[in-house]
Amino acid sequence: MPATSEDIAEAARVLGRGGLVAFPTETVYGLGADAADAAAVARVFQVKGRPASHPLIVHLAGTDQLSDWAGDVPDVARRLAERFWPGPLTLVLRRGSRVALEATGGLQTVAVRVPAHPVALALLAAFGGGVAAPSANRFGSVSPTTAEHVRTELGDGVDVVLDGGRCEVGVESTIVDVTGDVPAVLRPGGVTREDLEAHLGHALAVPSTSRVRVPGQHPSHYAPRARVVLVPAEDVIAEAEVARQRGHRVGVLVPPSAAGVAVKAHAQIAVPASTAAYARGLYEYLREFDRQGCDLIVASTPADEGLGLAIANRLRRAAGPRPAE
Ligand code: AMP
Ligand code: MG
Repeated sequence: MPATSEDIAEAARVLGRGGLVAFPTETVYGLGADAADAAAVARVFQVKGRPASHPLIVHLAGTDQLSDWAGDVPDVARRLAERFWPGPLTLVLRRGSRVALEATGGLQTVAVRVPAHPVALALLAAFGGGVAAPSANRFGSVSPTTAEHVRTELGDGVDVVLDGGRCEVGVESTIVDVTGDVPAVLRPGGVTREDLEAHLGHALAVPSTSRVRVPGQHPSHYAPRARVVLVPAEDVIAEAEVARQRGHRVGVLVPPSAAGVAVKAHAQIAVPASTAAYARGLYEYLREFDRQGCDLIVASTPADEGLGLAIANRLRRAAGPRPAE
C-alpha cells in the first residue's frame, strides 16, 4: 500500500520521538533517523550492523536548509545544488554544529542531499529537520529498491516503513566532495560525471583512495549471497557453462551483446540495453538470483561511462573479496 499523507505525518512524529523510519527515495530506500539526535542515529548503526565510523547522508527538504547543517557552503556547492537538487547527488561539506557527530562517523565533514521523491520530500518537510539515512539494508548487502525488500531484511528493527513504490534510479547517489580546491567524485551514482563536468565546465578529480572513509569503497559491498564473477562480455556465456559443469547453481546476467544466445544455467536475466533501465533493475536482479538459490553469478561490467560507471562500480564491489568464511 502506497504511503498516505497520514502515514507520512505519523512517520514524521516517529522521527521526532527518536524513532527509525524507512522511506523511499529515487535512488534506494533509506533508513532514517533525526540527524540531530545522537541516540536515534546510534540505533541506525545498530539495526544495519554498520561500523560506527561509516558516515551517513543527511537528507534535507530543500537547499534553503543547507546552511543549518553545513558549516560553510562554497560557491561550487551552491551551483551543483541549484542544478541537481532534488536529485541523486550528495555533497560533502564542512560539518555544521546541528548534525550529531555520530551521523558523520566522527568526521568534521557532512554529506547532504535533497532527494527527488515525493514521499521523501513530504516526510522531510513534515519533520522539518535533517534525516540521517544510509540505505535500509544490513551492512554490506544489496540495497533495497522496494518497501518489501526493507521489510524482509530489517523487519522489526524499523518503526515505520513508508512505501513509495519501486525506486526510479535504482543505484545510490553520486557523492562529490566540495571541501577541497577541485570537487572530487568519491562514489559514482545516479548523476553522471559527464553531466557534472558539463555543468561546471571543468573536469572533476576522481581520487583512487579518498582521504575520507567511504563505506561503498570497501571490498565486498552491495553484495548478494551468491558469489559474483566478472568477465568480459564476450566470455559470459562460456564462463557460465564452465561453472555449471563444475556443479555450481549459476545465475547469468546476459549482456546485451549476447542477447538471444542459448545459455544453460540455473537462472538467467537479460540485461537491458539502456543503462538507466539496467541501474533501475540491478539490485532486484541480484536479489532474484539469491531467491532462486544460485551460488554463483556470472556477469560483465558495462562501459565506464554515463550511468554505466555506477553500475560497474557496484558490480565490482559485489564481486570484491568476502570476509573469511
Ligand atoms: P550508504 O552507503 O548507502 O549507507 O550511504 C552513505 C554514504 O554516504 C556512504 O557511502 C558514505 O561514505 C557517504 N558519506 C557520508 N558522509 C560522508 C562524508 N563526510 N565524507 C564522505 N562520504 C560520506
Ligand atoms: Mg548502503
